[in-house]
Amino acid sequence: MIDFHIHSNTSSDSKMTVREIYEEAARKGLTHICVTSHHQPEEVKNNDFRQSLTEDSLKRLRSDIEQANKLGKTKLFCGIEMSYSLEDEEYIRQFLKKNKFDFVLGSIHYLEGKVISDPGNRGKIDASMQEKMTKKYFEVLKMMIKTKMFDVVAHIDIYKRAFIENNFEKDKAEWESVADALLENDVGFEINTSRTREVPGETYPEKDVMELLVNKGVRKITTGSDAHRVEDVGRRLAEAEAILKTLGVKNIYFFDKRQPKKIII
Ligand SMILES: [Zn+2]
Ligand SMILES: [Zn+2]
Repeated sequence: MIDFHIHSNTSSDSKMTVREIYEEAARKGLTHICVTSHHQPEEVKNNDFRQSLTEDSLKRLRSDIEQANKLGKTKLFCGIEMSYSLEDEEYIRQFLKKNKFDFVLGSIHYLEGKVISDPGNRGKIDASMQEKMTKKYFEVLKMMIKTKMFDVVAHIDIYKRAFIENNFEKDKAEWESVADALLENDVGFEINTSRTREVPGETYPEKDVMELLVNKGVRKITTGSDAHRVEDVGRRLAEAEAILKTLGVKNIYFFDKRQPKKIII
């Protein structure tokens, strides 16, 4: 099993050390894992690095990863979860050119000035605003995919965290065009098991979206817990693999120096 979405304490929302992550993953029998540190260009502009890497924290992280990899057989990689917005594209391009990672997740956390990845916003955005923002979300999502800067899109239907109303049938045509964009640009998506913390039994993306993307032929798929606490490392990933198998998916991928490597599930 692989966990390719984990947060260590380079970000203020996680207290986990790399060593703690490694030991927990090894204990749970995970074979390949990746620390995907938050990086928010918005914060960098304001010189506020709460959920962003600094040169120092990245250096320390790389050295911690190197040390942890000596502890056992689990392979630990160095990734990043980059927040995307159109105005930050050039910054992101330069940052990724300068700093090499094994794996780059692209995320949309902010939209129209609101934090859509914050469950605290759940129920606070009215229905007409939600409709407007959903439309915008798909627009930004496709722009992000087309930049080809990201290996995989993180929590691809994250807007559901803040929105209560969402309707797969209504958004089906949008998802079809997202699938086309993923295929054209060779970008993947992840099965993110963190949604169970808000809606038990659910994943990002939800099953209908997952099925549509798989049926359209998107096969570059990773699995990730999005853990910010030790007990969440590897959480429900066996279940995610089981769902994928029911859709006929036979392998997923981990990434080494930005190269996808196949793992049979
Ligand atoms: Zn995220
Ligand atoms: Zn994350």
